Amino acid sequence: MPVLVFVESAEGKVKKTSLEAVAYAHAMGQGVTAIALGNVDKEELEALGTYGAQKVLHASDSKLNDGIIQAYASVLVKALQDEQADILVLANSSLGTPVAARVAAKISASLASNVVELPNTSAGFAVKRSIYTGKAFMQVELKNQKKVIGIKKNAAEAKAVGLPVQATPYAVTLNDADFAVKITSSEKATGEVLLPEANIVVSGGRGMKGPEHWGILEELAKTLHAATGCSKPVSDMHWRPHHEHVGQTGVKVAPQLYIAVGISGAIQHLAGVNSSKCIVVINKDADAPFFKAADYGIVGDAFDVVPKLTAAIKAI
Ligand code: FAD
Repeated sequence: MPVLVFVESAEGKVKKTSLEAVAYAHAMGQGVTAIALGNVDKEELEALGTYGAQKVLHASDSKLNDGIIQAYASVLVKALQDEQADILVLANSSLGTPVAARVAAKISASLASNVVELPNTSAGFAVKRSIYTGKAFMQVELKNQKKVIGIKKNAAEAKAVGLPVQATPYAVTLNDADFAVKITSSEKATGEVLLPEANIVVSGGRGMKGPEHWGILEELAKTLHAATGCSKPVSDMHWRPHHEHVGQTGVKVAPQLYIAVGISGAIQHLAGVNSSKCIVVINKDADAPFFKAADYGIVGDAFDVVPKLTAAIKAI
């Protein structure tokens, strides 16, 4: 019985978090069917095979381009039936999380979110969940036959394990009830790298003194192909737009590299960044709490350190 994986995409490209979901399902060892909805590039679909999917379904109906949660849940419930799959795996993203809840409710499945390890099936079906924004872990047993598993960003490594596969068109019948919500307009928050998906984030805090000084962070971000983020007070003071606010009450990021400049490292900020693979802190106060969470720290003035760092990276 295969595991079904819901694959998210943006502008035709599969999201990294969904590749991690495919890798996670592959490691479960019972076969993987991946399903992508809406507009996704052919090569991107085929590449899902490389990450461990034996079969790739593509429901390309243009009505599925807009990320309508109800419609996605309906398609996934149907695909679980058609594939005779009892387990759905997806990423705990802003889309994946509500989709998971809807699917679980529709099929009376046990649901676990923010899962960080493969299930332990030696006694029941137990999974480890990250809770309190990564401060603690909880072991839960999924007792129902049907299960929905949301995995936390960076919990699985997306790596090549197989060969590309041809995607199979997947026909769906959608009705009005699936579109109780209609998106009337949408706009991209930034022309640059999107913060929640970014591999590298350059983030600034109150230590940057004012919006007029953000140029040095933008230059560093551009050099690294990174997204820019900020602490809450920075967006509260309108130095930066709200969609860049990182933390417990803002965007949760999980990049390979998070560079925090002039941010003290309050617990509420750390809650949004503690899934990052590597944290670099630049702060002029050697006692700033952020250094305790850092992999690398530079004690120094941001206005001195950042331009030098950018120049050094450009010189590589
Ligand atoms: P500060 O705490 O003022 O720190 C500025 C830092 O810059 C200091 O460490 C200082 O040493 C350093 N500095 C100063 N000048 C320089 C320089 N020239 N070069 C280098 N370093 C310099 N905060 C968030 O960020 N995200 C959240 O989601 C969030 N949610 C919250 C929710 C609640 C309910 C509450 C109560 C608070 C929340 N906060 C959040 C606020 C949080 O508690 C902190 O107040 C905030 O993170 C501090 O922002 P900061 O580090 O930019 O500023």
